[in-house]
Amino acid sequence: MIKFDKVTKIYKGDFKALEDINLEILPGEFVSIVGKSGAGKSTFLKLIYAEEMPTSGQVFFDEKPIDGIKKRLIHEHRKKIGTVFQDFKLLPQKTAFENVAYALEVSGAPNEEILEDVPQILDIVGLGNKMEKFPRQLSGGEQQRVAFARALIHKPKIIIADEPTGNLDPISSWEIVQLMMKINEIGTTIILASHNKNAIDKINKRVIVVENGKIIGDYSTGKYKLD
Ligand code: ADP
Repeated sequence: MIKFDKVTKIYKGDFKALEDINLEILPGEFVSIVGKSGAGKSTFLKLIYAEEMPTSGQVFFDEKPIDGIKKRLIHEHRKKIGTVFQDFKLLPQKTAFENVAYALEVSGAPNEEILEDVPQILDIVGLGNKMEKFPRQLSGGEQQRVAFARALIHKPKIIIADEPTGNLDPISSWEIVQLMMKINEIGTTIILASHNKNAIDKINKRVIVVENGKIIGDYSTGKYKLD
C-alpha cells in the first residue's frame, strides 16, 4: 500500500530530516512510528499525504509514485488519506456535524449524502448525541473524535494520526487509542506517530523506531518492549 524507496528529505537550510528510508506498509496494518521530538516522524507522514516531496528516492501509494501525481489531482490523493493532528484543527464556529459535513461540502457531495453519512460517522466515533455541539462545548477527547469523524468521512484507505493523544489526559487518550483500534479492525490502515509509550504498548502492533532521520528498529506485533 505504501512503499518508501531510498527516501531522503532535506529541508531548506540543508537540514536532513530523513535519510535513506526503505519501508513497506501493507493494507490493514496498524503501524506506530516512535522517536524523540525532531526525529523525523511528522516528515515521514507528510511525505505520505504529499505535503512534502522527497529530496531523493520515491514514495509509492498503491504502487504509484506520489511525486508523479499532477498538482490538480493531489486533492484526489489526499481524499484517500484521512489525517488527524494533535491540535484537532476544528473550525470553532461550526458544530461537530458542520465540521464533518464541511469536508463533504467542499468536495461537492450532494445534500442527501451529507445528511446520511455525517450522523452515521459521528455515531461510529461515539458522538451521535453531541452533533450539534460546538468545539468549545466538547472535551478534548470529544473534539479529537470529531477530527477522526472528519478524517473518516471520505472512507479513506488510510488514517494518518500525528500525536493524536498529545493534548489529552490519560483517560481520553485511552479512548482515542480504542477508537483507532476499532477503525483499524474495520479495515482501515493506520499510521500513528506518537510519543505516548503507554498508548503504543497497549496497541501492541508493528512499531517503527526513528532516530535522527533513520529507522533504527522495525518490530512486528508483540516484539516491541518499552525501555
Ligand atoms: P518529529 O515529528 O519527529 O518531531 P519532524 O519530522 O517534525 O520530527 O522534524 C524533523 C526535523 O526536521 C526537525 O529537526 C525539524 O526541525 C526539521 N524540520 C521539520 N520541518 C521543517 C521545515 N519545514 N523546514 C526546515 N526544517 C524542518
